[in-house]
Amino acid sequence: MKDHKLVPTVCPYCGVGCRFFVKVHQGHAVGLEYMTDHPVSGGRLCAKGNAALEFLYHPDRLKNPLKKANGSWEKIPWDEALDTVAEKLQATTNSHSANSLGFLASAKCTNEENYLFQKLARLSGTNNVDHCARLCHSPTVVGLARAFGSGAMTNPLSDLALADCIFIIGSNLADNHAPALHWIWLAKDQGAKIIVADPRLTTTAWMADEFLQLYPGSDIALLNGIARVIITEGLADKDFIGKRTSGFKELAASVMEYSPEKAASLTGVPAEKIVSAARAYAQANSASFVYCMGITQHTVGSDNVAACANLALLTGNIGRRGAGVLPLRGQNNVQGACDMGALPGVLPGYQPVTDADARARFAENWETDNLSPEPGLTVVEMMKAAEDGQIKTMWIMGEDPVTSDPNAKHVHKALAALDFLIVQDIFLTDTAKVADLILPAAAWAEKCGTFTNTERRVQWFDPVISPPGEAKADLWIICEIAKRLGFEFGEGYAGEVLAEINQGVAAYGGITCVRAASLEGVHWPCPSAEHPGTPILHTESFSTASGKGQFIPVNHQPAAEAVSEDYPLVLTTGRLALHYNSGTMTRRTNQILERVPNPEIEIHPQDAQSQGIKHGDTVNVITTRGNVTAVARVTDTIESGVVFLPFHFPDINNLTIDALDADAKIPEYKVAACRVEKGGPQ
Ligand code: SF4
Repeated sequence: MKDHKLVPTVCPYCGVGCRFFVKVHQGHAVGLEYMTDHPVSGGRLCAKGNAALEFLYHPDRLKNPLKKANGSWEKIPWDEALDTVAEKLQATTNSHSANSLGFLASAKCTNEENYLFQKLARLSGTNNVDHCARLCHSPTVVGLARAFGSGAMTNPLSDLALADCIFIIGSNLADNHAPALHWIWLAKDQGAKIIVADPRLTTTAWMADEFLQLYPGSDIALLNGIARVIITEGLADKDFIGKRTSGFKELAASVMEYSPEKAASLTGVPAEKIVSAARAYAQANSASFVYCMGITQHTVGSDNVAACANLALLTGNIGRRGAGVLPLRGQNNVQGACDMGALPGVLPGYQPVTDADARARFAENWETDNLSPEPGLTVVEMMKAAEDGQIKTMWIMGEDPVTSDPNAKHVHKALAALDFLIVQDIFLTDTAKVADLILPAAAWAEKCGTFTNTERRVQWFDPVISPPGEAKADLWIICEIAKRLGFEFGEGYAGEVLAEINQGVAAYGGITCVRAASLEGVHWPCPSAEHPGTPILHTESFSTASGKGQFIPVNHQPAAEAVSEDYPLVLTTGRLALHYNSGTMTRRTNQILERVPNPEIEIHPQDAQSQGIKHGDTVNVITTRGNVTAVARVTDTIESGVVFLPFHFPDINNLTIDALDADAKIPEYKVAACRVEKGGPQ
């Protein structure tokens, strides 16, 4: 094709943040080309990235504002839709209170959109603003902030190539963050030892030199067992501990009860493998820790993260090339949405809402005296408050909690109980179906702004094509509603908002559109225009108040729900290589859907046999909260007693439990008690 142009963009799916070129011909995105010199992906894209253009043209795209009238949808003009939203927000505040409002921001939206969205919530007088980071990596924010003073990935992914040992726990990155695996293969080619800990023999585990197949929910026992071996065998980095850390004695005392034998009995991992993994990690010159939602999605998620950080501090594997702690973020802008303050307890830049000085700074910048000092509600808490009638009106931008939140039937009931629900999205999601008003949004390729990837790399992208019908960029929608509420947010140009972010968020102080549009992007913290950005954190000191890394003693605790006679199997949920989150985009991408149209449940041959289930049979998966139909995939890659379901399909989260981590408030998606029976829908 001759007269096409190539527009650089950032992948809309996961937090790896691969860039590629979109081929545009006569206003249409007709294909993509690889960006072979991109520092994260090197031109490699996973199956989702390769298929990222298809859903843009799906006939289901929302093209007009819609209001529900007598049970069906009626197209309305933008002015009416925007006026209605402003009136409902204002009326709810006047009749009840600002805390009767709930706002769900989005890890799929840009930094600029999330910044203005949380600003609008806060100017309305509430901190009830949250997003799906709560459901994936809020324990990273809590756990790493306690240990290192900053809840973010410490090193770039390419640094993995320089490690002598890579410890991967609770992450199947070969499937879910595939281009990042390249750096691990490079390390392995140079002799690095790869340790993988996971309840399933995943695609990632196939590359391991040491595979530790642990019971779901036993991560702390494993990590504490490893810490004990490191300490008792004299493998800890005493110099680093003495100069750069606090709390070693307390940690050492706390892990002593986790002998390899005890850790083995709690985890199912043989004692000798625990010892061998401890030696490999501690004796490496540079060792890196990689983890994902297998660590975070537990009622002890924050403690799991702290246990990972303890090992890095114990061995001095932090603040150097090839030595770090790398949480792999799921969504393309989950890091940025957190940075922008789309969280109920912190303002942009993680400044607590309870901190009077921080509030005063934002109050001055935003010309308001209406900032609440009271931390708001999290996603799951907002659903409970909606059901109890405390939240009356909710505005959900780019999220689908009916599919993605735990105990999803309860979420549906809660949203249906609201006086008024506004959903802003690109498709009629299961959540949008419950709404009173729908605002059609532009997809990523139809707008501009920045995403911050899992490495804290901020990358700018321009629009590639126009949105369908009357769909509008989220930034424009937010600014128009703000205007109707009497707030002056500008005309919705992302560059202007980024300039405001430069003023309010110190770590983004020097990140301009031009710098973020460069091939490398910019790693925060980048406090000034002259600053080069910071690919590696904690090189000289930690971001804690004392400047020292803090050991955090943590203890093994059982999961919230135990198996029983009626529910004898542990259900754990996770991702597939080909699908993405709630499936809103990948289930509207034929080249993906043709390959994986339905959920399959992984079940061990012994458990299948006991129920008369054969490979390919239709089965019911049942918990106390609901049931789901799936196809049996009988496999010995999973341990007997444990079953696995991917969460990308409708109703899977009817099964999961909404028990929460006390600090991060993340639900325990990774452990629920279930039974599996042969048969179709009930
Ligand atoms: Fe997109 Fe993530 Fe795949 Fe890269 S790894 S192409 S960012 S989904």
